Amino acid sequence: MYDDSTIVISVEGEQHPVLCGHCKQRISTRGKGKPKSKSDPIGCAHCNNWGGQDEVAKIAIDYAMSQIQLTLSRAMKETLGNTKGLKFEGQTVQNKRYRFVI
Ligand SMILES: [Zn+2]
Repeated sequence: MYDDSTIVISVEGEQHPVLCGHCKQRISTRGKGKPKSKSDPIGCAHCNNWGGQDEVAKIAIDYAMSQIQLTLSRAMKETLGNTKGLKFEGQTVQNKRYRFVI
């Protein structure tokens, strides 16, 4: 489904390509094909946005988790919005910039 140079992470059993947080292009390895070692940088050639694989994975997973949280918050806000006397006060929009997203 994705070629070898596409960086994907798995969230709840589904694979998502990792995208650059700035321009939303798919990120890839700096060279051709799969990175040979953990320290080979991966990232976006358009924005010169690079990181180590562990770092990129961590940022993308942080982003995924915050998106799941926001989706739940929005659903809760919608539900409570129709209930008299109840108001949802949590965060429902992404206000943090992530260097890598999915
Ligand atoms: Zn970019």
